[in-house]
Amino acid sequence: MAEGMPTLRVCALYPDLMNIYADRGNLLVLESRCEWRGIGFELHASSLGDELDPEGADLYYIGGGQDRDQRLCALDLAEVKRDALHAVAGRGGTILAVCGGYQLLGHSYRLGDETLPGIELVDLVTVRGNGERLIGNAAIELELEPGELRVLAGFENHGGRTHLGPGTKALGRVLAGHGNNGTDGLEGVREGSVVGTYLHGPLLPKNTWFADWLIATALGLPDPLPALNDDLERAAHAEARRASGV
Ligand code: GLN
Repeated sequence: MAEGMPTLRVCALYPDLMNIYADRGNLLVLESRCEWRGIGFELHASSLGDELDPEGADLYYIGGGQDRDQRLCALDLAEVKRDALHAVAGRGGTILAVCGGYQLLGHSYRLGDETLPGIELVDLVTVRGNGERLIGNAAIELELEPGELRVLAGFENHGGRTHLGPGTKALGRVLAGHGNNGTDGLEGVREGSVVGTYLHGPLLPKNTWFADWLIATALGLPDPLPALNDDLERAAHAEARRASGV
């Protein structure tokens, strides 16, 4: 870490359970991109039963998971970590939730007769009906700053269909793939620095510009961060876009 530079403190929730589609790669990208710029990086985990310190990290991360693992996490989130995550969002802290983690940010995830609780951080519900899983390469267009359109490319595989409440903002508009529910053309959710998305595979190696936005947002640094040699990263992004047909 270079002198005078801040440290990005990341808390990974349930890294042992919520990590399908190489979602752990998101954390490696954050670490590398901090290190390459002389920004410090600290990672700690919060798993089942662990209290969560709402001041203990700049960025809270939860990956995707199977319904079985999600069930355990949903109950733990609701019983142990809910208030802390509301405190994080309340102080403008950054939260990134992918797929299974994203679904648990809302009111509930209904699977047949069972309803898993969400932490109600954002106004959305997810329902697992009898329909086919929504699978494939996907790309979305988003506007993080007014007038600045960017593309996120990734892979989605979810049985749940997510519906945003009225007035709740999607992360982006579907260019290719299914998005939140395969019908309304919306993908993910974004409220300030709380972000949820179905895109993984994993998300950040394919979209390093978005990793940089998360780092800058979490640390309160000006965006964009100083440029890196991103030839490989740009090629990875282009390939992910190509795979989705965009
Ligand atoms: N279990 C959830 C679903 O199928 C989320 C899956 C995932 O994280 N890929 O909808």
